Amino acid sequence: MKNSGRNSRMTKQRRLILEEVRRMMDHPTADEVYEAVRKTIPRISLGTVYRNLDVLAESGEIARLKNSGNQSRFDGDTSNHYHVRCTECGRIANLKGVDVEVDGLQLGAACGFEVVGHWLEFQGVCPACKGGRSLFENVKRTN
Ligand SMILES: [Zn+2]
Ligand SMILES: [Zn+2]
Repeated sequence: MKNSGRNSRMTKQRRLILEEVRRMMDHPTADEVYEAVRKTIPRISLGTVYRNLDVLAESGEIARLKNSGNQSRFDGDTSNHYHVRCTECGRIANLKGVDVEVDGLQLGAACGFEVVGHWLEFQGVCPACKGGRSLFENVKRTN
């Protein structure tokens, strides 16, 4: 998937933003990416971060999560995976190994649509929010 030729025109700022989004596994908002990038480039503006995130999302280097509330959240992992969102704090974690087969062609044939994509998100309560609650007695407690 690496194509250094295509990426060679990437500015230093954009490359750093891309690296930060990939490093941050918690699907950061633009503001969170901005805070992280500022540690390396203190004078970077929020507008620059927003613009570069847009470019990266449009070129497919990162993914923009759908329905992520008021602020867009970004995902440095563009491989096929699903998400679980904490209903308490909004945190989003990756759910790997969940295999949901959706046959878009067949679905589309049934309703006359050409199905071009789908969006599926699980909901739950994250370990931090769960705290002492015993919603999932059979789940290993983290503390
Ligand atoms: Zn939570
Ligand atoms: Zn993800």
